[in-house]
Amino acid sequence: MARIVVVGAGVGGLATAARLAATGHEVTVLERADTVGGKLGRYTHDTAEGSFHFDTGPSLLTLPQVFHDLFEATGAKLDEYLDLVPLDPIVRHVFPDGVTLDSCADPDGFAARIGAALGERSAADWRRLWRRAARVWAASERDILRRTVDSPRDLAALAWRLGDLAAIAPGRTLRGLGRGHLSDPRLRMLLDRYATYTGADPRRAPAALVAVPYAELAYGGWYLRGGLGTLADALLTRCLDLGVVVRTGATVTRIDAAGGRVHGVRVAGAAAPIPADVVVANCDALTLYRDLLPHPRRLAGLTDRSLAGFVLLLGVRGDSGLAHHNVFFPGDYDAEFDAVFGAPGRGVRARPALDPTVFVTVAHDPMVRPDGHEAWFVLVNAARHGTAAGAVDWRRPGLADAYADRILDVLAERGVDVRDRLLFREVRTPADLATATAAPGGSIYGTAGGLLRPANRGPAHGLWLVGGSSHPGGGLPMVTLSAQIVADEIGPAWD
Ligand SMILES: Cc1cc2nc3c(=O)[nH]c(=O)nc-3n(C[C@H](O)[C@H](O)[C@H](O)COP(=O)(O)OP(=O)(O)OC[C@H]3O[C@@H](n4cnc5c(N)ncnc54)[C@H](O)[C@@H]3O)c2cc1C
Repeated sequence: MARIVVVGAGVGGLATAARLAATGHEVTVLERADTVGGKLGRYTHDTAEGSFHFDTGPSLLTLPQVFHDLFEATGAKLDEYLDLVPLDPIVRHVFPDGVTLDSCADPDGFAARIGAALGERSAADWRRLWRRAARVWAASERDILRRTVDSPRDLAALAWRLGDLAAIAPGRTLRGLGRGHLSDPRLRMLLDRYATYTGADPRRAPAALVAVPYAELAYGGWYLRGGLGTLADALLTRCLDLGVVVRTGATVTRIDAAGGRVHGVRVAGAAAPIPADVVVANCDALTLYRDLLPHPRRLAGLTDRSLAGFVLLLGVRGDSGLAHHNVFFPGDYDAEFDAVFGAPGRGVRARPALDPTVFVTVAHDPMVRPDGHEAWFVLVNAARHGTAAGAVDWRRPGLADAYADRILDVLAERGVDVRDRLLFREVRTPADLATATAAPGGSIYGTAGGLLRPANRGPAHGLWLVGGSSHPGGGLPMVTLSAQIVADEIGPAWD
């Protein structure tokens, strides 16, 4: 039995802790915040009309099998903890010309919807892309998402072994893939958007990210009744039932390592270090290699940061007639990417996009809002917080409120005007996310979207990385897979 300390109680940290405890290890989770869940955050706003409950992070659950596997591996059934609700549409896309397209988890059905909305040529284009996406998904699912990938050499060797190079197209971008397959600019927008699921710019993100829409549309998009945050409750309960010690309000300031292996961690305000044979870091890899166990070489690869998000939480009177997920695209998608990523090399600073894509989630769930009202989660891609050229200083006085006004105006211009139906509005900037979850700059996905992310295996023996900033990447299913990879590598307790 190893003494294992997990630094951070995000989904990746809790999932690793539950898996390791189920195999007999002695596991302690140390979380700096007062609650668990990390970016899977929640917020409740009480009004005279009743309470509004918001997810402040994820609103879409994909690859449900990954979560079934997790619960099974810890000796439980997911259905006893969570109520998964399939979504149709998964996302309603509203294009600049007002045409709408609803995605769904039935490939033929979605192609038919594309045909009806955008024409038969577009439907045929999509079918061709879909066949290719299926090959990329099969290759990545088998050989990338379920094992450690430690170096470019590992990745290259894999691709050659797969013989699927033509489908994965190393060196090609997601944008390039869209151009090559999709004649309708609206479908290309839809594809481009999936780059943002990994915090990346589609003009630079690898074509292999076509596996992301495949996973969503082949296996479905899901809501959890009561809110996605119920996943954090379920994981915490699993951990506690398995004997994991979970300490909140415990900030790890240092990981002790000597002789090439870890020995323990130091917690702010504690007199003595906590000894450990294994340390699993669920914090951002940047925090790990800059602050907790400084490692200049590993830190050097972490400069290309993912985008962040600007969020509005709205209490809305009445019924807007929106789908659960709605994406309102802008006229000029590239202008948005130029704004949120900037181009420091060309002297172009990042800034809030004036005419951004707006993602609105309205859960049709009586558990999250009073009768006759809606709880809106509005998300816009945003540059990370900071003062560098590729960042925006979101704490600049007046900026957050002015940008919130702008987003409500943009929605009104796109046909959804809620300004006179607002009961309240709360704003969450990338700076707020950084404060709440210790994500540097509020970057949601660590580094921006390449296939090669910080390895799960750390530079000292007994040090492991899980979570969205490490392999295989961000998003709830990916961080849960990272937990599976790491728990498998650590292995069961042997006494
Ligand atoms: C606005 C938004 C929308 C999103 N939408 C979706 C979506 O629809 N679907 C989806 O699948 N994903 C979505 N995501 C991404 C998803 O939330 C994340 O990828 C996932 O929750 C990250 O989990 P993680 O394990 O990496 O841990 P994190 O959530 O990053 O948690 C890390 C934890 O470590 C703690 N920590 C950090 N440093 C220390 C320290 N020194 N000591 C102790 N504790 C520490 C932090 O406080 C935090 O609790 C979204 C994220 C955001 C922010």
